Amino acid sequence: MPDCLFCKIANKQIPSEVVYEDDRVLAFKDSSPQAPVHILLIPKEHIASTTELGEKFSHVAKDLFAAVPKVASKFSLLPKGFRVVINQGPHAGQAVDHLHLHILGGRQMHWPPG
Ligand code: AMP
Ligand code: ZN
Repeated sequence: MPDCLFCKIANKQIPSEVVYEDDRVLAFKDSSPQAPVHILLIPKEHIASTTELGEKFSHVAKDLFAAVPKVASKFSLLPKGFRVVINQGPHAGQAVDHLHLHILGGRQMHWPPG
């Protein structure tokens, strides 16, 4: 297994505030929230980034996006909306090399994101 922070969170070796879980994905609170609601949604299996999401891992994209409205609904984000972000690589500021979706909500978002 890679020495990976989010694998350790998925395995419960490192604690996190879990808000949603099924057998393939885990959602937990970001430790440095950038909005009133800031959740990270990860596949339990280690996939470094979107560039690994080819045919082989198409099921992972499906699992993640199936969980997005469940998480958003849990935090009552559906009526007003929310933002889903993936930081891919250094230019986007990806800090953890385990695929994760940021789900941000609870305030007005701006565009472009900067
Ligand atoms: P990114 O920059 O897209 O790779 O995002 C990584 C995110 O992980 C950041 O928003 C961090 O605040 C968050 N993060 C780092 N360590 C932890 C942790 N132990 N528990 C929860 N969130 C974390
Ligand atoms: Zn990992």
